[in-house]
Amino acid sequence: MERIPRLTFSLLRISRRTEYIYLPTKAPKRRAFQATGRFFTTSLPKNKLNQLPHKPLQSSVAMPLNVLIVGAGIAGPALVTLLQGSEANYNITVVERFPELRTAGQQIDLKNQGVHVLRKMGLLDAAKAHCVDETGLEIVDSQGKRMALFGVNPHDQQRIGLTSEYEIMRGDLVNVLYQASLDQYAKLKERLGKGRGLTYEFGKTLTDLAQSDDGVDVTFTDGQTKRYDLVVAADGQASRTRRLAFGKEVSDAAFKSIGVHAAYFSIPRIEGEGGLARGFNAMGRRLLLTRTSERPVTGTLLFTMGDAEKLKNVYKEPIEKQKEAFVEVFKGSGWQEDRLLSGLKSSDDFYAHEHGQIKMSQLSKGRVVLLGDAGYCPTPFTGMGATGCLVGAYVLAGELARHANDVSGALKAYETVVRPPVDEIQKLPGVLGIFFPSSKLGVWILRNTMWAVSKAQQAVDWPRSEGGGRWKLPEYPELNLTS
Ligand SMILES: Cc1cc2nc3c(=O)[nH]c(=O)nc-3n(C[C@H](O)[C@H](O)[C@H](O)COP(=O)(O)OP(=O)(O)OC[C@H]3O[C@@H](n4cnc5c(N)ncnc54)[C@H](O)[C@@H]3O)c2cc1C
Repeated sequence: MERIPRLTFSLLRISRRTEYIYLPTKAPKRRAFQATGRFFTTSLPKNKLNQLPHKPLQSSVAMPLNVLIVGAGIAGPALVTLLQGSEANYNITVVERFPELRTAGQQIDLKNQGVHVLRKMGLLDAAKAHCVDETGLEIVDSQGKRMALFGVNPHDQQRIGLTSEYEIMRGDLVNVLYQASLDQYAKLKERLGKGRGLTYEFGKTLTDLAQSDDGVDVTFTDGQTKRYDLVVAADGQASRTRRLAFGKEVSDAAFKSIGVHAAYFSIPRIEGEGGLARGFNAMGRRLLLTRTSERPVTGTLLFTMGDAEKLKNVYKEPIEKQKEAFVEVFKGSGWQEDRLLSGLKSSDDFYAHEHGQIKMSQLSKGRVVLLGDAGYCPTPFTGMGATGCLVGAYVLAGELARHANDVSGALKAYETVVRPPVDEIQKLPGVLGIFFPSSKLGVWILRNTMWAVSKAQQAVDWPRSEGGGRWKLPEYPELNLTS
């Protein structure tokens, strides 16, 4: 069959075995999915759709999208697996700036619809197998004496506390998703068309991108320029891809600081540490947390709402400079200060950043689309970052499958469908400042308030609300998922 210009014809997917045909689409389109797993585009009224016969195709043209994903964190590999599952013949390249899979990071939460997406992908058990066994959080005073105790929160309920039902080390979740994409690719490899496949390229990023109506020309750090049908920015909160596509001004303005600076790192475990995380509020708007569970090391998290000026510009400096700045800010905090700060200095997985949300009025520009933290980082304080990535990847893959090769239609639909959950995950838990008192009296009041809340929560199961919100995960039979 002759190739026909894209503007006047739309690609019609007619079977799960990736046969394609171009058909005229002058009349308004309607897509449907039948129990047979077949899609078709038609201008027939809705009530006539199920009367259409399935005719075998006379000829077919395969041309699934050539996709570039920037970033192999959580969002990137999740999207790979979902795309491949819906359409084996996607040609997918993932570039990751880091020289290998970047598995640093402490515990992250899996919640609500994020859990449902993993279940649908058949990966919930694999993720669960890596979940840490944290039994709750105790708030301690400078002598280590317990002041308040909070338990484990069910993944779909919002209560005061730190520990969620599914707590997983960031690196373990990244690994589960990355491995799943490779395993799936290994199974599909045999039946892929020429020039189709999956490639992860590490130690590489993009330096420029130029868009035209029918593609994006991307220049990489190795000097090569390649053309893609779709570029997905999955390169995190400080996304370079977002900056290149939307411009520095728009991209920088999207970052809304919540005034908290944080450092995460691992230190050797000591006796007495185990299931309970420990939190200590220090004067000067500082919060120190340790999380160990059954692991041989203790994850340490330092948060501050003070000294913003000292930390604001440090993140572009080498790691050693960042470490020095955090040591300076946390000097004199008390409790396990000596242990934590000497552990910080020798840690090899130190990661620090300013907490902020990414708020973009548009999630795509032309053929570049934002996914996960790059488009809607909620800040780790919400515990919803990973969930946002998984929901985003599911909706993006779902809409691409539903719209076949119509990138613009798919990206519009992605924007519409994903906006309500994005608004939900970005809801912050009240006034953050109350968790960061500056004076001795403020710390005393906070500890006693925590004590009262923890007692009330244990006694009457209060406060509590449905964390899942009103938004329900849409169904995409096109993704060929397990449930
Ligand atoms: C090293 C690290 C440690 C973290 N630790 C924690 C933590 O302890 N607790 C927590 O709640 N959240 C942490 N986060 C953030 C958390 O992973 C995200 O909030 C969330 O899960 C969203 O995931 P994402 O895939 O959108 O982005 P990320 O998980 O940030 O992944 C983005 C990926 O893109 C890569 N990348 C960045 N820029 C480029 C570029 N220009 N070109 C190519 N690749 C690029 C990064 O190296 C990374 O692999 C961490 C993130 C990172 C990168």
